[in-house]
Amino acid sequence: MPVDVRQFPCLDDNYGFLVRDQATGRTAVVDTPDAEAILRELKAAGWSLSMILNTHWHPDHAGGNARLKAETGCEIVGPAEVRRIAPLDREVGEGDEVMLGETRFRVLDTGGHTLGHVAYVDDADGVAFVGDTLFALGCGRLFEGEPQQMWSSLSKIAALPPETRVYCAHEYTASNARFALSVDPSPALRARADQVFSARQRGEPTVPTTIGAERDTNPFLRAPALKAAVGLGEGAPDWQAFAALRAAKDSFKG
Ligand code: ZN
Ligand code: FE
Repeated sequence: MPVDVRQFPCLDDNYGFLVRDQATGRTAVVDTPDAEAILRELKAAGWSLSMILNTHWHPDHAGGNARLKAETGCEIVGPAEVRRIAPLDREVGEGDEVMLGETRFRVLDTGGHTLGHVAYVDDADGVAFVGDTLFALGCGRLFEGEPQQMWSSLSKIAALPPETRVYCAHEYTASNARFALSVDPSPALRARADQVFSARQRGEPTVPTTIGAERDTNPFLRAPALKAAVGLGEGAPDWQAFAALRAAKDSFKG
């Protein structure tokens, strides 16, 4: 049986995600940006929390762990780095599996934004929770990792089936789209950017996205096709094009 995903805004621009295994009713929250908002959402849904799945240690992802553990007794699963700021019960990394009732999550090491960042993939349902690694039309900043590491993390996520629904942790899509348009003239991007701007004007979320949409229009996943746009020759390694795009985004004023 599939999972239900309940998405809600938290803090300024984070999303919270409750994931419920339909077969057993067991429920997880992916990251803990705001314990109050998560408790409110659980109550509104009539669900009780079994598990926290942390993607990385940043306070807008693990800051609510202690409070939620105290209120619900849930198990906390995540990369070891979470212990820098919050309680953690089970450490996971590349190749591990986490069961939520009958739903199996595969753990991918997606280091780069932070060194220990992980993503959770439910292959059976075509659902991926990617934290701050891949965003709609963007990707996370490299606070701890190197461009080569982030490129390999993004490539792992991009290799998922195109119809996979991608739940990223922030609503950054409109500003990502403005940067994307500055480096990539593709008509597919222009069309998607227009959809994004009007969705945001109507106050609608642009998350989840899909792997297919990101492969077609996300400039970071399209780095190999944008080498000339960042002044590199065709023979340059793909990760160098990614690094140049990430540096350009870091200093982009749009
Ligand atoms: Zn972060
Ligand atoms: Fe974040």
